[in-house]
Amino acid sequence: LEVTGLVRSVPVGGFLSRSRRTLLNGVSFTLERGEILALVGESGSGKSTLARVLARLDTPDGGSLRLGGEDVLAAEKKGASLAYRGRVQMVFQDPFASLNPVHTVAHHLERPLLRHGRATQAELQTRVHALLESVGLTPAESFARRFPHELSGGQRQRVAVARALAVEPDVIIADEPTSMLDVSTRRGVLQLLRGLTRERGIGIIFITHDLASARHLADRVMVLYAGSVVESGRTADVLAAPRHPYTRLLLSAVPDGADFLRAPLPVKAATGPVPSQGCAFAPRCPQADARCLNTLPPEHHPAADHVVRCHLEASKGVLDNAAVSS
Ligand code: SF4
Ligand code: MG
Repeated sequence: LEVTGLVRSVPVGGFLSRSRRTLLNGVSFTLERGEILALVGESGSGKSTLARVLARLDTPDGGSLRLGGEDVLAAEKKGASLAYRGRVQMVFQDPFASLNPVHTVAHHLERPLLRHGRATQAELQTRVHALLESVGLTPAESFARRFPHELSGGQRQRVAVARALAVEPDVIIADEPTSMLDVSTRRGVLQLLRGLTRERGIGIIFITHDLASARHLADRVMVLYAGSVVESGRTADVLAAPRHPYTRLLLSAVPDGADFLRAPLPVKAATGPVPSQGCAFAPRCPQADARCLNTLPPEHHPAADHVVRCHLEASKGVLDNAAVSS
């Protein structure tokens, strides 16, 4: 999945007003087959908007989306959206809201299998049982007959994962899939996701507030602030040696890597609008200077596949290069 320059904004202040609020400000990244990319950031950073755009529930104002080299937004204009939806599936945060209480587990899995042509009527039961086994819900015959209220939160989330798998996707977007589960159930669901990438080559975008889960699960981490990617790279680089002041603050707020929403950041919360020029983090950044308010920070690459958007890092890079060439 190749995402380039995604932009999305919404109007604010009534329909006569011309002002818009930017939710995504030119987000770009690549997700490889079999890779887990963690998307971290506070509420309002644009994580869920990005998930909704990728799942094609929201439409971007600009930018492109390619899957296997195919231009998805252009294809959609020609009516090919079902094909994309069959390849990119979503697992939502709330396992209690995502299943219909009047339908059995089997029914939840039969629908996507039939709709996307993944099974004939005759194969249906066998396929449903195989899906339940692949997410660890055994004996499958017994789980297939149950209703959502007969399942625990963790079991429901496994059904949601099975439903996503039913259409044999290339990508799963998991929007805080474990945040409503108790800690003892979390690990099992995370291990299930990890296994799926290995066995089936599925790429996963794992949206989370929980840095410990990101560290445990993700190959790469992308940090979003006010709709912009401020830092991204391999998990070991970003979480063990963070370069961006915002990533550093997140990590210093939660030394054990736990859920950072429960630990307030040691800087004042964002108030007022995000600056229209300059660095979006400047109003909260302990290291901001005049340049930060006026000029958009350039991308700096401290290591292969490690990207930081900060003036401080960029000027360090210039100094490093000067030192090397002198
Ligand atoms: Fe802070 Fe400036 Fe870097 Fe933005 S560009 S994170 S304000 S030092
Ligand atoms: Mg959210």
